[in-house]
Amino acid sequence: MVKQLCILGSTGSIGTQTLEVVRAYPDRYSVYAICAHRSIDKLIAQAREFHPEVVCIADESLYEPLRDALADLPIKVWAGADAIAEVVTMPSIHVVVAAMVGYAGLRPTIEAIKAGKTIALANKETLVVAGEIICDLATQFHTPILPVDSEHSAIFQSLVGEDQCEIEKILLTASGGPFRTFTLEQMRSVTAADALKHPNWEMGAKITIDSASMMNKGFEVIEAKWLFGVPVEKIQVLVHPQSIVHSAVQFTDGAIKAQLGAPDMRLPIQYALSFPERLASDFPRADLFALQSLTFEQPDLKRFPNLALAYEAMRRGGNMPCVLNAANEVVNLAFRQGRCGFLQMSDIINETMAKANFIAKPTYEDYVNSDAAARRLAESLL
Ligand code: MG
Repeated sequence: MVKQLCILGSTGSIGTQTLEVVRAYPDRYSVYAICAHRSIDKLIAQAREFHPEVVCIADESLYEPLRDALADLPIKVWAGADAIAEVVTMPSIHVVVAAMVGYAGLRPTIEAIKAGKTIALANKETLVVAGEIICDLATQFHTPILPVDSEHSAIFQSLVGEDQCEIEKILLTASGGPFRTFTLEQMRSVTAADALKHPNWEMGAKITIDSASMMNKGFEVIEAKWLFGVPVEKIQVLVHPQSIVHSAVQFTDGAIKAQLGAPDMRLPIQYALSFPERLASDFPRADLFALQSLTFEQPDLKRFPNLALAYEAMRRGGNMPCVLNAANEVVNLAFRQGRCGFLQMSDIINETMAKANFIAKPTYEDYVNSDAAARRLAESLL
C-alpha cells in the first residue's frame, strides 16, 4: 500500500528532507498535501514535482499568486490557518508529518489526531505547549505519534521490544551547540550569525538559535516526558559534542540501549515513515574508527539557564510550559532581528514566567490565551 502523506511545513528543513525520502521510495510514499507558511516559490516547485491533491499556504496574502502559478495543474489551492486545520483531516491521508515551526503547529496537529491520522511529529513545540491535551487525545482517538526529532527517535528505537520493561532513566544527548566552550563574557556579545553556525546539524533558523541557547534541549526534555511517560526528574541531559549517540535509555537492570549514527535527519524521518520496518538508505554512515572517541559532559546551567527554566516550567506544570514557549518564540525572533542580546533571552523568559498568570488545569482555550498574553508580556520586556 502506498502511504499518502500530508506534510505541514514542506518547504522547511524537515519538510524538504521528508520529500527526499519520498523521492527515494515513490512506490511506498505519495504526497497528498503540502503546506507552507510563506515560501511560495519553493512550494510551487514542490507542487510541480510531486503533484499533490492539495497545496496550502498559511499566509493568505499569497493565495492568488500561488493559485495563478498552479492554474495549469489539477491541484486544489487553499490558504489560511483554517484551511490547514481542515486539510489534515482529508480521508485519503494516512500520515501527517507535523513539521511546522512553533506554536502554529498545535491546532493542525490536534485536528489530525482527532481524525485518527498517524502523526510523524517534528514540531516539538506542540508537546511543549499542550503535551497533556495532545497525549489524552492520542489515547482517546488511538492515534500513533511517531517522533521525528533525532533524540526522541533514538529513544523510541531503543524501546522497540521493551514494552514490558521499566525505564530507569532517559539519557538525552545534546551537541552543546556553537557556544559550548564559551565563557559568559564571550556569550554576552555573540550575534545571530554566530549562533546560526551549528557545528553538527543543518536546521532551520529558529531551532538553530534554540540549540545555541539550549532551549531546544529544554523543549526536548518536555517532549520526552510526554512521548515516553517518564517524569522529567528521570531525564538526564548529557552534552555529547560528536552527535553520534542520538540518545539512550537506561533500564532498571542497569542496561543502557542507545541508537548511534551520523547526524542526518533523513534517518529519523524515514524511520518514522517506515516503522516498524527499516528501509535501505544511502545516507552517510558513522565511521567509528574515524571518530576515535565519544565524550559526555554535564550541562552547565549557569551558562545555559534555559535548560533550568524548562525543568522549572515542567515542575510548575499547567500553562507554564506554554508561557515558556511563547516567551521563547518572541525572544528567539528578537535575537535574530538584533533587538535582543543572547543572554537577555533567558532573562526575559524567566521574567515572563514569573509574571504570567498561572493556570493549573488549562483547557485548549486557556493555552491560546496564555500564549497570546505571554507574547505581549515578553514583547513589553524587550
Ligand atoms: Mg533534536
